[in-house]
Amino acid sequence: MPELPEVETVVRQLREQLVGRRVESAKVLWERTVARPSLAAFRRGIRGREISGLRRRAKYIVFELDGGEASPGGRLLVGHLRMTGRFFVGDDPEPRATRVSFRLDDGRFLAFADIRKFGRLALGPRLDALTPPLGPEPLSDDFDGEWLATALRARRRQLKPLLLDQSFLAGLGNIYVDEALHLAGLHPLRSSDRVSKPRARRLAESIQAVLRRAIELQGSSFDTFYRTPEGQPGNYQHEFQVYGRHGKPCRSCGKPLRRIVVGQRGTHYCPRCQRA
Ligand SMILES: [Zn+2]
Repeated sequence: MPELPEVETVVRQLREQLVGRRVESAKVLWERTVARPSLAAFRRGIRGREISGLRRRAKYIVFELDGGEASPGGRLLVGHLRMTGRFFVGDDPEPRATRVSFRLDDGRFLAFADIRKFGRLALGPRLDALTPPLGPEPLSDDFDGEWLATALRARRRQLKPLLLDQSFLAGLGNIYVDEALHLAGLHPLRSSDRVSKPRARRLAESIQAVLRRAIELQGSSFDTFYRTPEGQPGNYQHEFQVYGRHGKPCRSCGKPLRRIVVGQRGTHYCPRCQRA
């Protein structure tokens, strides 16, 4: 499933192609892709809107919309790729597995394709009405070692599920949590209230370092359908230290890496570098 670096890559590429374009109409081929409002309100609400900006919040892609009719639907179009969602911009109105296709004022199309059909689009006035509660962005000023140390202490949860919890910290998924915990030398089952302040600082730095490097490499294409909107795979999978490498030697210490299941998620760690 695309995580923060993959969604950030998608947003950056779409931004270049879409900001300033106007949406002339929307064709919905799979109704359940549109989470809200009603189909009629969605079609009406999107028509004639100019895409004035594009940004990411957590794993959501946020299109900012201006103009159009009396804005019945609101001014934000929010997309979540889930497992296999992809956006295409081009001359083809309906690439394979297209669920919603938007006709643009330059004659091209923005298509949302999604083989597994878990992805969602929603239109509304405010972001917080379109997403569940979301924690701070790990690459923003709202997040640092001090914040993390306090937040970890205030909870008593295992690190892996806590860091996956989007209401605690936004944007991380299975891959980047495993990689950040390894870089910080923390066992995935460690209780959050038993992480020292220096170690919490190191974890914050590790999370940011892993995410920045992954964005630089346009995300990871491993065991997923993730491709950038330009059709390229990401490249961070070549730098995985632990994710998917169970049984192979740790790149830091040589000890064979392990895989356990935590909260139904495969979890990869080094038994020597990340002691329980
Ligand atoms: Zn190791």
